[in-house]
Amino acid sequence: MESENYTPQTLIEAIRHFSDLDVATEYVASIRWPEGFVCPACGKQAHSYLKTRRLWKCKACKKQTSVKKGTIFEDSPISLDKWLAALWLVVNCKNGISSYEIARDLGVSQKAGWFMLQRLRLAMQRGTFEKYSEKFDGAVEVDETYIGGRARYRKAVENGARKGPRTGKTAVVGFLERGGHVHLTVIDSIRKTPLQKQVRKHVKPGATVYTDELKSYRGLDQHYAHKVINHAENYVEGLIHTNGLENFWSLLKRSLSGTYVKVEPYHLFRYLDEQAFRFNARKGNDGDRFEEVLGRVSGRRLTWDEVRDRAKPEPEPPYQPTLPWKPRAYRMGPF
Ligand SMILES: [Zn+2]
Repeated sequence: MESENYTPQTLIEAIRHFSDLDVATEYVASIRWPEGFVCPACGKQAHSYLKTRRLWKCKACKKQTSVKKGTIFEDSPISLDKWLAALWLVVNCKNGISSYEIARDLGVSQKAGWFMLQRLRLAMQRGTFEKYSEKFDGAVEVDETYIGGRARYRKAVENGARKGPRTGKTAVVGFLERGGHVHLTVIDSIRKTPLQKQVRKHVKPGATVYTDELKSYRGLDQHYAHKVINHAENYVEGLIHTNGLENFWSLLKRSLSGTYVKVEPYHLFRYLDEQAFRFNARKGNDGDRFEEVLGRVSGRRLTWDEVRDRAKPEPEPPYQPTLPWKPRAYRMGPF
């Protein structure tokens, strides 16, 4: 199938262009199979195209394939024009887009919108260093933060707990190579061992590492030029700061609290991937980002079963009435 390589540049162009399902199918096919159709079942190229049903039929194994098969779109009853519009929205909205907005804009249910977004985030996930096989090098900021926390933990927070498991918050460590990319990882704790393990995993020995004065970072100077900023005194000391990541955290938290309202800790990594993708692709234009993510839809799948169990909200703690009086111990015995 011959395809024109026109990529829309704005949302309105994208919606108009892909409203024709033949055009949308051809476009996705041209990105999925840049050298022409390849049968996903047997790897052969000889095929016929059933235009009315938009299916490829392999001449070797006779199997029929749609362009959605073997991609994040597989088994989805939602048509490609809607998928492409949703993809455009999620890669290009700076603060992200909620499932409610997707539902309203595309005329699908909120549940369907939520599932679409989870699948699209999978395509936005860049593996750790898929494109950049090297570890972070040069000047690297490392910083940790806590995200989330829910009403049921309010009491602990009111009693002065600011971080840690009692607050229901999730710890995240971020890496930013100055002038380059960001990478985020959810971690169980910000104690020294797990935190430094992540640093060694992501940063090349010999790099300059900028952190705050958290004790868990002590000892990094064995492998790195470790520069520490003391936030109690000042935030910037020449080059010694973690402002790149601080800015990233504030953008992330704005988008999580403004757009997504509530994110279960299990799903947090997907939102982190989404935000990191937009940050890392910030130099491209809307069309570039769209094409980049569309180039990664195949070979990735996320089924409803995989996300469903974890999509259930955690049960609330059992109801415990608070009595306005102190219960008295009654004496039992002969009257
Ligand atoms: Zn085949």
